[in-house]
Amino acid sequence: MSDDCLFCKIIAGDIPSDKVYADDYVYAFRDINPAAPHHVLIIPKKHMANVSDADDPDEALMGKLLLKANLIAKQEGLCAGGFRYVINTGIDGGQTVGHLHLHILGGRTMRWPPG
Ligand code: AMP
Ligand code: ZN
Repeated sequence: MSDDCLFCKIIAGDIPSDKVYADDYVYAFRDINPAAPHHVLIIPKKHMANVSDADDPDEALMGKLLLKANLIAKQEGLCAGGFRYVINTGIDGGQTVGHLHLHILGGRTMRWPPG
Protein backbone atom coordinates (compact mmCIF):
# COMPACT_ATOMS: atom_id res chain seq x y z
CA MET A 1 0.00 0.00 0.00
CA SER A 2 1.28 3.42 -0.98
CA ASP A 3 -0.48 6.24 0.88
CA ASP A 4 -0.57 8.63 -2.06
CA CYS A 5 -1.58 6.09 -4.72
CA LEU A 6 -5.02 6.37 -6.33
CA PHE A 7 -5.30 2.67 -7.09
CA CYS A 8 -4.15 1.62 -3.59
CA LYS A 9 -6.97 3.82 -2.28
CA ILE A 10 -9.41 2.03 -4.62
CA ILE A 11 -8.20 -1.37 -3.36
CA ALA A 12 -8.65 -0.18 0.24
CA GLY A 13 -12.18 1.04 -0.55
CA ASP A 14 -11.30 4.64 0.30
CA ILE A 15 -12.23 5.66 -3.26
CA PRO A 16 -15.28 3.99 -4.84
CA SER A 17 -14.94 1.80 -7.91
CA ASP A 18 -17.11 -0.42 -10.07
CA LYS A 19 -15.62 -3.74 -8.97
CA VAL A 20 -15.51 -6.60 -11.46
CA TYR A 21 -13.34 -9.13 -9.62
CA ALA A 22 -11.18 -9.39 -6.52
CA ASP A 23 -9.17 -12.07 -4.76
CA ASP A 24 -6.21 -12.08 -2.38
CA TYR A 25 -3.79 -10.95 -5.11
CA VAL A 26 -5.58 -8.83 -7.72
CA TYR A 27 -8.42 -6.32 -8.00
CA ALA A 28 -10.35 -5.46 -11.16
CA PHE A 29 -12.72 -2.56 -11.82
CA ARG A 30 -14.26 -0.68 -14.72
CA ASP A 31 -12.27 2.22 -16.14
CA ILE A 32 -13.92 5.55 -15.25
CA ASN A 33 -13.28 6.85 -18.78
CA PRO A 34 -13.83 3.83 -21.02
CA ALA A 35 -11.95 3.69 -24.31
CA ALA A 36 -14.03 0.74 -25.57
CA PRO A 37 -17.46 -0.77 -24.77
CA HIS A 38 -15.70 -3.10 -22.32
CA HIS A 39 -12.80 -1.47 -20.45
CA VAL A 40 -11.65 -3.11 -17.24
CA LEU A 41 -8.45 -2.43 -15.29
CA ILE A 42 -6.85 -5.29 -13.38
CA ILE A 43 -4.17 -4.45 -10.82
CA PRO A 44 -2.03 -6.32 -8.31
CA LYS A 45 -3.04 -5.58 -4.71
CA LYS A 46 0.67 -5.18 -3.99
CA HIS A 47 1.73 -1.66 -4.93
CA MET A 48 4.19 -1.58 -7.79
CA ALA A 49 4.72 1.58 -9.82
CA ASN A 50 4.78 -0.15 -13.18
CA VAL A 51 5.47 -3.47 -14.85
CA SER A 52 9.20 -2.87 -15.04
CA ASP A 53 9.28 -2.83 -11.22
CA ALA A 54 8.22 -6.49 -11.20
CA ASP A 55 11.09 -8.80 -10.35
CA ASP A 56 11.71 -12.52 -9.78
CA PRO A 57 9.70 -12.67 -6.51
CA ASP A 58 6.71 -11.32 -8.46
CA GLU A 59 6.73 -14.11 -11.03
CA ALA A 60 3.65 -15.86 -9.63
CA LEU A 61 1.81 -12.56 -9.13
CA MET A 62 2.43 -11.57 -12.76
CA GLY A 63 1.08 -14.94 -13.84
CA LYS A 64 -2.04 -14.43 -11.72
CA LEU A 65 -2.55 -10.98 -13.20
CA LEU A 66 -2.60 -12.38 -16.73
CA LEU A 67 -4.68 -15.45 -15.94
CA LYS A 68 -7.29 -13.44 -14.00
CA ALA A 69 -7.40 -11.00 -16.91
CA ASN A 70 -8.29 -14.00 -19.07
CA LEU A 71 -11.05 -14.91 -16.62
CA ILE A 72 -12.46 -11.38 -16.79
CA ALA A 73 -12.26 -11.31 -20.61
CA LYS A 74 -14.28 -14.52 -20.57
CA GLN A 75 -16.79 -13.12 -18.04
CA GLU A 76 -17.20 -10.02 -20.20
CA GLY A 77 -18.00 -12.23 -23.18
CA LEU A 78 -14.97 -11.08 -25.16
CA CYS A 79 -13.35 -14.38 -26.08
CA ALA A 80 -15.32 -15.04 -29.26
CA GLY A 81 -14.74 -11.63 -30.81
CA GLY A 82 -11.34 -10.97 -29.31
CA PHE A 83 -9.92 -8.28 -27.08
CA ARG A 84 -6.75 -6.35 -26.29
CA TYR A 85 -4.52 -6.13 -23.21
CA VAL A 86 -2.48 -2.95 -22.72
CA ILE A 87 0.10 -2.08 -20.05
CA ASN A 88 1.14 1.53 -20.44
CA THR A 89 4.52 2.04 -18.78
CA GLY A 90 6.17 5.33 -17.86
CA ILE A 91 5.81 8.74 -19.45
CA ASP A 92 6.62 7.64 -22.99
CA GLY A 93 4.23 4.70 -22.59
CA GLY A 94 1.37 7.03 -21.68
CA GLN A 95 1.05 5.84 -18.07
CA THR A 96 -0.92 8.31 -15.95
CA VAL A 97 -1.49 6.32 -12.74
CA GLY A 98 1.61 5.05 -10.93
CA HIS A 99 0.32 1.62 -9.91
CA LEU A 100 0.75 -1.24 -12.36
CA HIS A 101 -2.48 -1.85 -14.26
CA LEU A 102 -3.43 -3.97 -17.22
CA HIS A 103 -6.18 -2.61 -19.45
CA ILE A 104 -8.67 -5.16 -20.78
CA LEU A 105 -10.33 -3.63 -23.84
CA GLY A 106 -13.01 -5.19 -25.98
CA GLY A 107 -16.37 -4.88 -27.66
CA ARG A 108 -15.26 -3.18 -30.84
CA THR A 109 -12.73 -3.76 -33.59
CA MET A 110 -9.45 -2.03 -32.79
CA ARG A 111 -6.75 -0.93 -35.18
CA TRP A 112 -3.09 -1.64 -34.90
CA PRO A 113 -0.93 0.24 -34.11
CA PRO A 114 -3.00 2.33 -31.69
CA GLY A 115 -3.05 6.08 -32.36
P1 AMP B 1 -2.93 4.73 -17.89
O1 AMP B 1 -3.06 5.92 -18.81
O2 AMP B 1 -2.48 3.49 -18.58
O3 AMP B 1 -2.10 5.06 -16.67
O4 AMP B 1 -4.40 4.41 -17.41
C1 AMP B 1 -4.98 4.92 -16.26
C2 AMP B 1 -6.45 4.65 -16.40
O5 AMP B 1 -7.05 4.83 -15.13
C3 AMP B 1 -7.18 5.59 -17.37
O6 AMP B 1 -7.77 4.82 -18.42
C4 AMP B 1 -8.21 6.28 -16.50
O7 AMP B 1 -9.44 6.50 -17.15
C5 AMP B 1 -8.34 5.29 -15.35
N1 AMP B 1 -8.79 5.88 -14.08
C6 AMP B 1 -8.30 6.98 -13.47
N2 AMP B 1 -8.94 7.19 -12.31
C7 AMP B 1 -9.86 6.19 -12.19
C8 AMP B 1 -10.83 5.86 -11.21
N3 AMP B 1 -10.99 6.58 -10.09
N4 AMP B 1 -11.60 4.76 -11.41
C9 AMP B 1 -11.45 4.03 -12.53
N5 AMP B 1 -10.54 4.28 -13.48
C10 AMP B 1 -9.76 5.35 -13.32
ZN1 ZN C 1 -0.67 1.70 -5.43
